[in-house]
Amino acid sequence: MKSYDIATIEGDGIGPEVCQSAVAVLKEACGSELLRFEAFDGGAAHYARTGAVLPEDTFAACKSMHAMLHGAAGLPGVTYADGTEVGNDLHLQLRFRLDLFANVRPIRLYAGAESPLKGWQPGQIDYVIVRENTEGLYASRGGGINLRGEVSTDTLVMTRKGVERVARFSFDLARRRKGAPRDGKRRVTVCDKANILRSYAFFRAICDEVAAGYDDVEIDYAYADAITVHMLKKPDFYDVIVAENMFGDIISDLGAGTVGGLGIAASAELGERHGLFQGAHGSAPDIAGRNLASPIATILSGALMLRWLGEQHADPALLAAADRVEQAVEAVLAEGATVPRDLGGSASCTDMTEAICRRLR
Ligand code: ATP
Repeated sequence: MKSYDIATIEGDGIGPEVCQSAVAVLKEACGSELLRFEAFDGGAAHYARTGAVLPEDTFAACKSMHAMLHGAAGLPGVTYADGTEVGNDLHLQLRFRLDLFANVRPIRLYAGAESPLKGWQPGQIDYVIVRENTEGLYASRGGGINLRGEVSTDTLVMTRKGVERVARFSFDLARRRKGAPRDGKRRVTVCDKANILRSYAFFRAICDEVAAGYDDVEIDYAYADAITVHMLKKPDFYDVIVAENMFGDIISDLGAGTVGGLGIAASAELGERHGLFQGAHGSAPDIAGRNLASPIATILSGALMLRWLGEQHADPALLAAADRVEQAVEAVLAEGATVPRDLGGSASCTDMTEAICRRLR
């Protein structure tokens, strides 16, 4: 049997507890042979001790192993001299150095997870935000100017290659999905501010060019401000949304809010050869180390990892395990006896882990 090497970086705050939970669930779903996990250092606390947020041996392992599973990184007060947070630099470095250009964030309403939006049933909210992950406004990180403490700039960067590949990724993804819950139409919504800035008009024009090669997928447009209303009022209209880096960052937290919050929001950051998987939330220092965090976002990110690995290596065992993990999470939530605090229940991180593992058994 082929086996896969997974580099784990537990990180800071709730990172270790949610990462350990996901590893336990993935082991339960895959047996002891299929996945081999190895833990590596990294994060804000590691930086405070050693001066490295992403040590070179961790980076080398991430580069050589089949996939990366990350808890979360960041601690209040651990910042660089320019005021930016050290913790974020861990995944930003991995994104940029491993060219993880597509950040995939599924927004799906699970049975048992109540939406703050009135009247939506499980299955009626089911779309994916694809956030461009290596350019846009965040490409300027570390490169902006602060002039004499009086003027500061950051530049938004768009390249033809960068937009084309994330657009193609989004259309290909729409092809593999069943369409929007509202009408079953395969649809890619381009989220931008093409009405205001040239860079976004460029983004939209390139998405149009790519769309011409996909007769079976509808192209749709929404300005970044307007989509925040649409995502609340007609979430069933969406299938795949593609957005520039910062817009994608913002609207994916909003999307997560509509299906129960950050504790249930999974994320996969994918390039041609590498994949980084972590919950869409940060290190939540306010609840860290108290067994209060929900591990669901990291567990569902683990399921995304199994599916991505399964597709990359044409391995049906991994694809089947991905389905099992998602079904186990859904079944546990739907049952209603073991529900995390952020979804209105009282289950601890370890209660959730045990319930999901039990279900898998
Ligand atoms: P970042 O900037 O790294 O995205 P953040 O400071 O915006 O992080 P998070 O760390 O994501 O914020 O957390 C925001 C709040 O959401 C936390 O204070 C916490 O209360 C809640 N939260 C986040 N993740 C979880 C989780 N897995 N389980 C329960 N609550 C969570």
